[in-house]
Amino acid sequence: MANFETVEVTTDLLILGGGFSACGVATEAAYWAKKNGLKVTLVDKAALDRSGAVAMGLSAINQYVGVRDGENTCEDYVRYVRQDLMGISREDLVYNIARHVDSTVHLFEKWGLKIWTDEDGKYVHEGRWQLMINGESYKIIVAEAAKNAIADAGGEIFERIFIVEPLLDGNKCVGAVGFSTREEKFYVFKAKATVATMGGAVHVFRPRSVGEGFGRSWYPPFNTGSSAYFTIRSGAEMTCQEVRFIPVRFKDAYGPVGAWFLLFKSRAISAEGGEYMAVRKEELNNWAPYGLAKPIPANLRNYLGMLDVDAGLGPLYMETAEAMQKIADAFKDDPKGYKKKVKELESEAWEDFLDMTISQAHLWAALNVKPEEKHSEIAACEPYFIGSHSGASGAWVSGPEDMDTPYKWGYANMTTVNGLFAAGDASGASSHKFSSGSHAEGRFTGKAAIKYIVEKGADPNIDNAKVDEIKAKILAPLDRYTEFSGFTTEPSVNPNYLQWRQFMERLQKIMDEYAGGVTAAFKTSKSNLERALELFVFLKEDSEKLAADDIYSLERCWENMHRVWQAEAHIRTMLFREETRWPGYYFRSDTPKMDDVNWHCFANCRFDPATGEWEMSKKDVWNIPGV
Ligand SMILES: Cc1cc2nc3c(=O)[nH]c(=O)nc-3n(C[C@H](O)[C@H](O)[C@H](O)COP(=O)(O)OP(=O)(O)OC[C@H]3O[C@@H](n4cnc5c(N)ncnc54)[C@H](O)[C@@H]3O)c2cc1C
Repeated sequence: MANFETVEVTTDLLILGGGFSACGVATEAAYWAKKNGLKVTLVDKAALDRSGAVAMGLSAINQYVGVRDGENTCEDYVRYVRQDLMGISREDLVYNIARHVDSTVHLFEKWGLKIWTDEDGKYVHEGRWQLMINGESYKIIVAEAAKNAIADAGGEIFERIFIVEPLLDGNKCVGAVGFSTREEKFYVFKAKATVATMGGAVHVFRPRSVGEGFGRSWYPPFNTGSSAYFTIRSGAEMTCQEVRFIPVRFKDAYGPVGAWFLLFKSRAISAEGGEYMAVRKEELNNWAPYGLAKPIPANLRNYLGMLDVDAGLGPLYMETAEAMQKIADAFKDDPKGYKKKVKELESEAWEDFLDMTISQAHLWAALNVKPEEKHSEIAACEPYFIGSHSGASGAWVSGPEDMDTPYKWGYANMTTVNGLFAAGDASGASSHKFSSGSHAEGRFTGKAAIKYIVEKGADPNIDNAKVDEIKAKILAPLDRYTEFSGFTTEPSVNPNYLQWRQFMERLQKIMDEYAGGVTAAFKTSKSNLERALELFVFLKEDSEKLAADDIYSLERCWENMHRVWQAEAHIRTMLFREETRWPGYYFRSDTPKMDDVNWHCFANCRFDPATGEWEMSKKDVWNIPGV
């Protein structure tokens, strides 16, 4: 076996991931841990300052309720999420996040984040819930607070450790194992409670950008389904695994469209000039009541554009020039003011990209795009898993302790596995938490996890023989490469193994063609999904033949295994839900309508680690009374 030193770390609370929700967990848990003499340990596969989906920065905080200024209520937010998710959301979780999110935003400001304010000192809104920020250093600021909190409580942070598997003691999570992405070290983390916050997943589906463009995607390439893998393999019940997210973005560099739609009030049109949201308005009747209420759910907006593309009316365009012209027109009688306004709008347009998707600015520059002169192409991206944004996939977690919710079996945000908590993209059915809501959810999850440790935390019971077995399995791709790579003159062609890229492309091909990817125009059906599952049997069999020539490739092998489990949960749940509820995200051509009688419910799944079987179940949707 590859000669990796084993490093053991014992802690009370283990935080897996270092993104927005992990920083929330760390900030709050460290406070309560210090009071109770407990240790907090955080493990990130990257470096905390620039890890996760916010690595590059953001131009807006997408969830701010504004209770302080009487702008909205938490109930308003619950109604908004219910509407956007076509009626399927865990309202207890959404409410819990909404009532904590404003204080999180105020903390961000206290820690040094510049939130735009107007001449009266009020926050500048991009839309009803969004605040404009100077967000290039957003992640660094939030990470610094987490680091300080952990240091103050005497905890530890491990960076560049890739977490692979959970450690289990029956239906209890007692830690995790992983390996360093820099040194030959295998890590065993033993913990009384563990919080999974390892983000969502990208590259499960074949991306539009392949070959030289590979790695360019809307969702950052470093989150690879580890939250889903970890919770599924622990035996946790999962929810909304069918609810993927497909954003419509500027094509090929995936630049954000929020500022264009919300701030500049831009229109999206087909190549023939029709505004699909207006031309295809009648279609919304088929998706009542959600299609007829405002705001129109993101998936339905996508869907109307997709209908144009299906009808041969593509490409689609964002009418940038028209939008900028309209705003500047208010100054048309004042030539100096007009010029100044146009300049201001231009710089806002570019800044939007430079804050969070620099590659889009490169692409515009490379293609000589002048947004003030000509429209720019937009397109539906390949599907992603991001439960904190407009998707909803994640673990099924316990509701807040002080709310009269039917979904309550333990501590807030604990999964159905004892001692295993989830937040951010890792917790399901509570979309639209975004960066701020993920941090807020992290905070109360961290507090609940410490409470669990104080009240129930026993020393972790670890089966060392099992750990040795897992270590051998994790390092096996390195051994396989050493054993067989000399068999051929070209190491990438070998009858004894396959490499991570070959394996990933096979996974992506299955997902793309059978599970409703770009090639299949986001459509699938029972027969296609069943065929995907047949091919998955062979894919999983061949995963035993993965080979890695170095630590970097070993990480890629395991990232792809994590994707496979996210993919399987997705296929099984789309197969289980015999209706089409989120056209624009995916369309089941054999059950093309929404069926509220049978499917106004959560579709949950669970992998049983003891038997290796999957179970599917329906769970009722509960609405907060009076909301
Ligand atoms: C393109 C894009 C644009 C967005 N725009 C906005 C916006 O404008 N405003 C807004 O408020 N929100 C926005 N969001 C949403 C926001 O980024 C997420 O809601 C938030 O980051 C989710 O937090 P998280 O902790 O769940 O995941 P992340 O912040 O992504 O963190 C995941 C963490 O897990 C780590 N990790 C992953 N796998 C492993 C592993 N195996 N072992 C150890 N560590 C691991 C990663 O390194 C990272 O530290 C956007 C998201 C995306 C993708």
